[in-house]
Amino acid sequence: MTDAGRNWLEVRREVPADIGLVAVSKFHPVSALLAAYDAGCRTFGESRVQELCAKRDQLPADVEWHFIGHLQPNKVKYIAPFVSLIHAVDTPKLLAEISKRGKQCGRRVPCLLQVHVAREETKFGFSPEELLAFLATETWREQDGASIEGLMCMASNTDDMAQVEAEFKQVVRLFDEVKGQYFADNPAFRLRSYGMSHDWPVAVACGSNLVRIGTRIFGEREY
Ligand SMILES: *Cc1c(COP(=O)(O)O)cnc(C)c1O
Repeated sequence: MTDAGRNWLEVRREVPADIGLVAVSKFHPVSALLAAYDAGCRTFGESRVQELCAKRDQLPADVEWHFIGHLQPNKVKYIAPFVSLIHAVDTPKLLAEISKRGKQCGRRVPCLLQVHVAREETKFGFSPEELLAFLATETWREQDGASIEGLMCMASNTDDMAQVEAEFKQVVRLFDEVKGQYFADNPAFRLRSYGMSHDWPVAVACGSNLVRIGTRIFGEREY
């Protein structure tokens, strides 16, 4: 078995069985995705629309494709018909576009709202205050071509795991608040997408139920 297949199996065994695992395959060749597929992987995450669509054409049809990166509204139309989850909705405008395109193809596109909690200023996402203010508008309730199913975040890129833990915990509190206030009667709102190769055990300890792991499965990426 190739490395990616073996690595995926290892990671799948390490991550608790009730927690979702997205194999982040961005920048890696189709051959590596197929190796993971052969080992049993059915959920891949990509961060570029063109790359995702090209790979989708070359993998079996039972793969679920997650879009994990920053998504430009004008590209939503290419993935709306089939994407299983859009992780990083970072503006009201993007959500409105996802809803519009979802309706056009007769589906409710599952998506997560991205919360910015990391210290880096360049990261995308709603601040906790912006998120609460946006939800308070209630405009998203009419946007039913999109299904808001939880929150996503990226922690600061640091070895300081206490900092990472504090950020994840902030998102858990926000999730509970938002769930109680807006989604108490919506069982679809249940996903907490955080944790990557280096911080997923901390994320899972902090209540993540969907981890996005790339390097640990496919090796280093070349940018
Ligand atoms: C690249 C990426 C990942 C995977 O990161 P690794 O450190 O390679 O595991 C997870 N989430 C997002 C949003 C990414 O862009």
